[in-house]
Amino acid sequence: MTAPPPGVERDRPLARLTTVRTGGSADWLARPRDDGELAAALAWADAEGLDVGVVGSGSNLLVADDGFRGLVIKLDGELARIERDGDRLLCGGGARLPKAAAFAAREGLAGLEFGVNIPGTVGGAVRMNANAYGGELARVLDWVELTGPDGTERRPPERLGFVYRNSNLGPREIVARAAFRLSPAAPETVKATLADLRRRRREAQPSGIKTFGSTFKNPDDPRAEGRSAGVLLDAAGCRGLEVGGARFSEKHANFVENRGDATTADVVALMAAGRRRVHERFGVALEPEVQLLGDVDAGPLYGAP
Ligand SMILES: Cc1cc2nc3c(=O)[nH]c(=O)nc-3n(C[C@H](O)[C@H](O)[C@H](O)COP(=O)(O)OP(=O)(O)OC[C@H]3O[C@@H](n4cnc5c(N)ncnc54)[C@H](O)[C@@H]3O)c2cc1C
Repeated sequence: MTAPPPGVERDRPLARLTTVRTGGSADWLARPRDDGELAAALAWADAEGLDVGVVGSGSNLLVADDGFRGLVIKLDGELARIERDGDRLLCGGGARLPKAAAFAAREGLAGLEFGVNIPGTVGGAVRMNANAYGGELARVLDWVELTGPDGTERRPPERLGFVYRNSNLGPREIVARAAFRLSPAAPETVKATLADLRRRRREAQPSGIKTFGSTFKNPDDPRAEGRSAGVLLDAAGCRGLEVGGARFSEKHANFVENRGDATTADVVALMAAGRRRVHERFGVALEPEVQLLGDVDAGPLYGAP
């Protein structure tokens, strides 16, 4: 094996890079600060035949208890920067979305307010087509710059295959940068909207817990009769249900909470139990929203419950 580029570290724990705080270590971890460092890390992984994973804020991520056999990339430095360019906001893929929303408000730019409550990065938001309170990422996204082993390509939102909580990005397509096309507005007005959205979120969701947010997508199965995943889980008796150190939140049944010592196996077993109960009661097969990294035994989370 050739030596990794400078700064690439061996055997790095990943739990602390996720909001649910479970899972093992990555064989390799790179925190590239600019395009050159990102290209060097990807070229090395390619030459060594290593799998590549990307971690943003880890707010929608479940890492295998055995960790990840390959290179994990976490964007930093220039690739996490937020800048204004006229009515556009230019963000590194590793920039945090709530920070970008607050930055835009201070600059008197409207359109990114929905990001204030999404505790992920710009790259993670693009990959997941993140949304909240009717704000639509695709409506304000101008372009994204994707970096892979063969170089960098700029793509408009129409070519990102956005569907509910998903895009067409492959595992080796890294959102290095994105531009948002925003509208001039009074900073005080945009800030007031952010404050209102934060208040609404505090009332609706638990705070201060280790979680990855919504566990399952809201189903479009007619048997759900328009009910959200949280309502179905609640009606199926999952609120407060526990497996090991993992529990469905008392405040929001579609949130899994790590009570302190949960493993990823606990979380998966709890999710499988929730899915089974909803299927028995309503005939609806819930689909996970959370993304998996590494060798997670995900059999019980897909297919027939
Ligand atoms: C309390 C809480 C509330 C939440 N509320 C919402 C909400 O209202 N709406 C909503 O949509 N989501 C919500 N989420 C889920 C989550 O914040 C979003 O899905 C977010 O977009 C994930 O971004 P991330 O940077 O944390 O991605 P991660 O969790 O780190 O990764 C998620 C996926 O994106 C990929 N990825 C990350 N960065 C990049 C990149 N630069 N390039 C390519 N791929 C990348 C990862 O490989 C992985 O497949 C919530 C989560 C929590 C914990």
